[in-house]
Amino acid sequence: MSQKYDDWGLATRAIRVGHERTHEREHGEPIFPTSSFTFNSAAEAAACFAGEVPGNIYSRFTNPTVRTFEQRLAAMEGGESCVATASGMAAILAVCLGLLKSGDHIVSSRSIFGTTTVLFEKYLTRFGISTTFVSQTDIEGWEKGIRPNTRMLFVETPSNPLTDLADIEMLSNLAKAYDCLLVVDNCFCTPVLQQPLALGADLVIHSATKYLDGQGRCVGGAVVGDAKLVGEEVYGVLRTAGPSMSPFNAWVFLKGLETLDLRMQAHSRNATELAKWLEDQQAIDQVYFPGLESHPQYKLAIKQQKGPGGIVSFTVKGGQDAAWKVMDSTKMLSITANLGDTKTTITHPATTTHGRLSPEQQCEAGISGGLVRVAVGLEDIEDIKSDLVRGLALL
Ligand SMILES: *Cc1c(COP(=O)(O)O)cnc(C)c1O
Repeated sequence: MSQKYDDWGLATRAIRVGHERTHEREHGEPIFPTSSFTFNSAAEAAACFAGEVPGNIYSRFTNPTVRTFEQRLAAMEGGESCVATASGMAAILAVCLGLLKSGDHIVSSRSIFGTTTVLFEKYLTRFGISTTFVSQTDIEGWEKGIRPNTRMLFVETPSNPLTDLADIEMLSNLAKAYDCLLVVDNCFCTPVLQQPLALGADLVIHSATKYLDGQGRCVGGAVVGDAKLVGEEVYGVLRTAGPSMSPFNAWVFLKGLETLDLRMQAHSRNATELAKWLEDQQAIDQVYFPGLESHPQYKLAIKQQKGPGGIVSFTVKGGQDAAWKVMDSTKMLSITANLGDTKTTITHPATTTHGRLSPEQQCEAGISGGLVRVAVGLEDIEDIKSDLVRGLALL
């Protein structure tokens, strides 16, 4: 790390870490839109390429703007190293390529991002890496899923869209007992609300596309962990295979990080108010939100997270027709699958994000026709309620 930040709080780290001013004495972080860097001599180039002296070589693996983002996010997650990637999926792929080999086995929560399931089931199996899917909340099920060749436990908490929590500390004890790595996709909480490394996780994954940007502008991702696993192994994949983040996107994410603390507090506040209000609506069957006392894991949420986050799901009485009626009656909310935006988004999981599951799988996962997911944004909460009540009143 180029700067001492150990004494700094999270919001300060998010604003100050990683920027070394150039000779121009700029205040804001510069973008370095250059594919390569120059050397003063052939000998200097040789030393740099050989890794004998530090220095920028080529933007697939060394770019100052990307490095600023990496150092800042590492400081926020409390990790030694961070590697930025072209997308959240590239981050997950880079972890698998860097840390697994043919014959290895993954135990993963069933309630993970759909595309991650496809990556594990369809693509990794082609290279001899198999996955067993288990229930997010059943710790005995996790243990039963472990085999002698298991190398990785993979989880995302809270889950999408039902906000089931996994106990990171318990999973980390399990991972240590069986000598495997615990990988946590921290997309929903961000380091502002949850720091998996401090709870014993080995690696943290981010889709920077979501809250880290927070304004729906760029696609990106990151992996955070220790200097060996991330700084050497995952970095090696980026350098060799190249799913790298562009300097421009890194700069957008840097600006996103500077307001992340404020935004996550505001998302949590808006979502809490909406969830409580939804619980009182006649047309609603159930509300899923870790900030409600009715959430079955409310105590774990308090212990593990600094706030409930911005994702609220609910089931309406009357199944898919009723759910679609609520969605189609909105005038402001965006009907889109994205989340983590200042703009509130509304999604029907059963026919979109989870539409590839069979009816049996949907039933097992608790994705019913009446389920609606709202990623609560930062608009005035009364406007969000007004937009939803129009449809709810029809039911
Ligand atoms: C969106 C998302 C991803 C994938 O990230 P991309 O940036 O879209 O590649 C991974 N995990 C979670 C939880 C996500 O929401």
